[in-house]
Amino acid sequence: MIIVATKDITTEQIDHIRERVEAIGLRTHVSRGESRTIIGCIGDEARLAHLPLLSIPGIDSVHPVMRPYKLAARDFAADRTSTVRVGNRTFGGTVCPVAAGPCSVEGGGMMAETGRAVAGAGASLLRGGAFKPRTSPYSFDGLKEDGLRILAEVREQTGLPIVTEVLDPRDAELVAGYADMLQVGARNMQNFALLREVGQLQRPVLLKRGMSATLKDFLLAAEYIMSRGNMQVVLCERGIRTFGGEMRNTFDLAAIPWLKMETHLPVIADPSHAGGRRDLVAPLSFAALAAGADGLIVEVHPDPASALSDGDQSLTFGEFADLMGGLGVFAEAAGRTL
Ligand code: PEP
Ligand code: MN
Repeated sequence: MIIVATKDITTEQIDHIRERVEAIGLRTHVSRGESRTIIGCIGDEARLAHLPLLSIPGIDSVHPVMRPYKLAARDFAADRTSTVRVGNRTFGGTVCPVAAGPCSVEGGGMMAETGRAVAGAGASLLRGGAFKPRTSPYSFDGLKEDGLRILAEVREQTGLPIVTEVLDPRDAELVAGYADMLQVGARNMQNFALLREVGQLQRPVLLKRGMSATLKDFLLAAEYIMSRGNMQVVLCERGIRTFGGEMRNTFDLAAIPWLKMETHLPVIADPSHAGGRRDLVAPLSFAALAAGADGLIVEVHPDPASALSDGDQSLTFGEFADLMGGLGVFAEAAGRTL
């Protein structure tokens, strides 16, 4: 940690700061510049969290030297992307898996139909929410355990591993009993009780970026899961809230290469929630793969016009097949395959 002193800091104040920092087991190094004095703190930075640094007289600002996330940091895995296995599929390898399916599990028939269609078009995993976070308490909020049973049946029929959302720490074991991968959605990215709970389960987690989360917040959320022992985390950029009103969210394309440099965890993109419109899904998917994404998650529905959630952004089966056909060259340009 580097402490930048106020311009008018006194020698007594410097001595006091050094005493406080050294009392918790760190060493200090003072360097006096022309206009500023800097106090470097050497040792375990985490201990400094116990000091109210900004309220100690003479301190102007403090700057961490180490990254606040350790397990998620790229250094942790010696410069490579970690692989996360979900059923017989792998995130973070040369193949970029595509998860596809409806926003919500609406019934057995539509799921079976969707499972067959997306598997036929080359999807690697089946998505579908059985527990749905809805902005309005009056909206359809999922079929719950019935939805999970349906997903498991369609996995039997198609061989596709399933990824589905868990909303509440109390449901984590139930969902993990059916799902191959647990989705923690944007609205729950900082639900720390949920992050701790899924951190205790040995199930891969798809962690979606909160709509107002910085990338540091995002990696610290991953760190919560990993610090509980579950290292199988895949990050998902799904668009953030900005001032623009034309799109549902703003797709933060730069987040993909930035995250790939900062963490060893696989990073995938969700073009459906990012744009919120069916006609934006293909261009955003192409951009994501070209930018180095390790996979995609895409909403597909047998009849988007009658979908119980997110119909506007859901692809038809035909549109999904076209998307898969168009993705190949972008994956290849990034040195990957589908
Ligand atoms: C979803 O995947 O349907 C979903 C609710 O996503 P997000 O959490 O990114 O909004
Ligand atoms: Mn959705």
